[in-house]
Amino acid sequence: MNDLLAKSALELADLLASGEITSVELTGACLDRIDALNPRINAFLHVDREGALAAAADVDARRAAGEELHRLAGVPIALKDNMVARGMPTTCASKILGDWRPPYDATVVTRIREAGMPIVGKTNMDEFAMGSSTEHSAFGPTLNPWDVERIPGGSGGGSAAAVAAFMVPLALGSDTGGSIRQPGSVTGTVGAKPTYGAVSRYGLIAMASSLDQIGPVTRTVADAAALTEVIGGHDPLDSTSLDEPVGALVDAVSAVSAAGRVEGLRVGVVKELSGEGYQDEVLAAFTSTVEGLRAAGAEIVEVSCPSFDYALAAYYLIMPAEVSSNLARFDGMRYGIRVEPTDVPVTAASVMAATREAGFGDEVKRRIILGTHVLSAGYFDAYYGSAQKVRTLIQRDFARVFDEVDVLVSPTAPTTAFRFGEKTDDPMAMYLNDIATIPANLAGVPAMSVPNAVSAEGLPIGFQIIAPAHADLRMYEVAQLVETLSGDVAGACPAAQWEEK
Ligand code: GLN
Repeated sequence: MNDLLAKSALELADLLASGEITSVELTGACLDRIDALNPRINAFLHVDREGALAAAADVDARRAAGEELHRLAGVPIALKDNMVARGMPTTCASKILGDWRPPYDATVVTRIREAGMPIVGKTNMDEFAMGSSTEHSAFGPTLNPWDVERIPGGSGGGSAAAVAAFMVPLALGSDTGGSIRQPGSVTGTVGAKPTYGAVSRYGLIAMASSLDQIGPVTRTVADAAALTEVIGGHDPLDSTSLDEPVGALVDAVSAVSAAGRVEGLRVGVVKELSGEGYQDEVLAAFTSTVEGLRAAGAEIVEVSCPSFDYALAAYYLIMPAEVSSNLARFDGMRYGIRVEPTDVPVTAASVMAATREAGFGDEVKRRIILGTHVLSAGYFDAYYGSAQKVRTLIQRDFARVFDEVDVLVSPTAPTTAFRFGEKTDDPMAMYLNDIATIPANLAGVPAMSVPNAVSAEGLPIGFQIIAPAHADLRMYEVAQLVETLSGDVAGACPAAQWEEK
């Protein structure tokens, strides 16, 4: 592997700034590795060699001309394939969008382009971001670079695997119930879901709008901080966008890295998120990191959030309700494929039905049906209405414990990466992967996964940090401390040794 590819985005940014390397050289190295490894792990659905190299050449020329550039200028990035970028296909890993090419850029893409970061391509995912293993992609699963017989998590398995396998230093993911953090956990990468509204959702193809957030996928906490500074901040194009600055996340992270502690830190261990159903090794790694935080001066408090026991149930009512509404736009009239029925008269309704039947996979259909049911007149109060009440209780649990502590911690996922096929026949077993990540989405608070250990089988384990809304900076500080305590887990990925042939 080209030595450059093992470096963090911020290290690469320094090399670019000092003129030791060019963006064309770096972007070319990423593209070559993607070409070599993608047939093996299927992390990318689309690679834009020409566009990425043109953006790299442009930023090199501007640097040579003495222009003042953004810190990450010239550092390549990959996008999960549910974010629109003009000229590149966007599929959401679904057949229904066909070869649709969006006519506009998502706000995060606009900001990435303005920062001078070449976009190498679009990454694989569970169809419309529904899943925890990337097995629901219409284009085949992504393989986990730590063990190719295992899932890379989901729905953002492609972004996580691309970063874990050193194909690209940075990627973006989206997190509705854990799709940045759980893939992070099982691929040894860092993933953050910002406070709801802190990053624009304009141009993110909606799954469940009240839960969706875009966030960074990286190999270091500092890189995640740097990327969030690029994509975050107010956007008038998103009515739920917060009107507040992102904060100096990179500075905060480097201060913690230098000090090896966070002054006056109070950490809450959530009783409901670390007991039954979690693998022994996951729990052991969790306890050991918590002890590390204590040794670094943090006060550790056990807290209880009883309503979290109902978070998964509430999520699997609210999310499908929003899914059924959001996905109604894929009707064979506006975008993507159009299938004419053969057995019934051609009417608008029969074309829509035939298109949706052919275009959507089973998991997407399952959720649309469930969502339509829970929103129907006879069942609305019993299901959707009750779930919204549970959502309020979860928000209250958070508010109560955040009076006592600065951050909450838990394992990110109950297990290390499982094998392909292990959970595909049992949706409930698949849904249980998100048990620890979902509460943060329901409450809109920021949460992040940092790799904290490698199991005896050689699989990474993740540690979750949850902070109050708007306290993303505090979350990053604690994340940096966890990374300092845990060492370079991402660097231990066996894919570093893979030959590119
Ligand atoms: N795995 C969860 C689900 O299937 C979360 C998905 C996501 O965050 N996009 O809904």
